[in-house]
Amino acid sequence: MTSYFINIWMAMAFIIAVQPLAGQGSSAQKKVLLLMGSRFEITAVAEDDTIAWEAINAGIAEIQRIEKIISSWDPQSQTSEINRQAGLMPVAVDRELYDLIFRAKKISQLTDGAFDISFASMDRVWRFDGSMTQLPTQEEVAAAKEKINWQDIILDTDQHTVFLKEKGMKIGFGAIGKGYAANRAKFVMEKIGGINGGVVNASGDLITWGKSNRPEGWTVKIADPKEKDKLLGWLPVKDNAIVTSGDYERYIEFDGKRYAHIIDPRTGYPTTGIKSVTIVCPDAELADALATSVFVLGKEKGLKLINQLNGIECLFVTDDDDIITSENLKLNYK
Ligand code: AMP
Ligand code: MG
Repeated sequence: MTSYFINIWMAMAFIIAVQPLAGQGSSAQKKVLLLMGSRFEITAVAEDDTIAWEAINAGIAEIQRIEKIISSWDPQSQTSEINRQAGLMPVAVDRELYDLIFRAKKISQLTDGAFDISFASMDRVWRFDGSMTQLPTQEEVAAAKEKINWQDIILDTDQHTVFLKEKGMKIGFGAIGKGYAANRAKFVMEKIGGINGGVVNASGDLITWGKSNRPEGWTVKIADPKEKDKLLGWLPVKDNAIVTSGDYERYIEFDGKRYAHIIDPRTGYPTTGIKSVTIVCPDAELADALATSVFVLGKEKGLKLINQLNGIECLFVTDDDDIITSENLKLNYK
């Protein structure tokens, strides 16, 4: 019987681990690799190891295919073309990209603009690649912020075109792309006959499926942020996604103050007040987008939003290490 842990956040307040299925005669195969600039762990459980590897390879190919479409670093991607044509002309794109942008705009609407893929104009002033030597001026922030507006991402249903209305606008899928890729990888892996279960873990954006032979099913362990070696509890993640946004993932520090990679579109500045947000729901893309959204919305508004949404739960850690959970999220203690 195989039993092991997949660590998601090694260095942070939480230590989460998933115990994969290990049914009768089944064994889990796992591949760890860099995709979309992030560490992915892809696990498949099958009675036949060859089938498990077939599924893992299919999952990897799917993620690489998606990366080619949504990467804003790759000048060849359709996303880069949309950005190059900002303020100039609409760009015809694949149905898949069109639909992703459509869904991203829906999340912007739901979150009153807290989530906005056009945040990407800010990467001219906030760079988290080590190249910043000083804080941007208020004028620089204000000028870049002017270009953020999800309502200026114009979609044409008939032509399948995307048009960024203003010159200097830019879109990026940093807050939703890994969740989408995790969903898709799961989808192609499940389609391969003989796969009993699996996990796609995109650096903490994680989706599981299949039955577990353990009485508690698939579980995610949660450590106490105040005492990292102490277990606070665990959550079941049966056929669910669990996604975390954290301020520790990418940040810069000036004068002892931490500036994290999630930008509040209303101010143009990195968000404050929350250390991490974890969302649990069946869909990894939605969980990904909502984790980033709640980060921006903050404690009160974020919690209110999640409590209004059916089948979606959250757990977050504030800057003071308080742990707050949504109404129906039940942490198990034993
Ligand atoms: P996540 O780790 O899913 O919370 O995504 C964080 C990433 O999303 C950042 O590194 C940015 O690429 C992008 N991002 C930052 N602020 C926003 C925002 N307000 N709305 C959408 N995407 C954002
Ligand atoms: Mg996200």
